[in-house]
Amino acid sequence: MNCVACESTNLIEGKILDESGGAKPRFKPLEVSMWKAVFGIGVQEVTVFACVHCGHLQMNVNFSDEDRQRYLEFEGQQPDLLERIESE
Ligand SMILES: [Zn+2]
Repeated sequence: MNCVACESTNLIEGKILDESGGAKPRFKPLEVSMWKAVFGIGVQEVTVFACVHCGHLQMNVNFSDEDRQRYLEFEGQQPDLLERIESE
């Protein structure tokens, strides 16, 4: 992996610490409701990397194979739920 800011390969993996609650940062697609997210449904863990060279912070979303396949089904802007159902 390269730093997107300076292209250095000197990245270290870490975590974002939230000292108020200690919750891990997660990625929630807008289409996933807060009710589902509360139960961990449809949200993905995030891996964080810091560039030692320039200090740029970058994050990767750890999509499950199932979610990645579902989102890759459509290129560009993702359709809403009704459009997905109609296309099947
Ligand atoms: Zn960098």
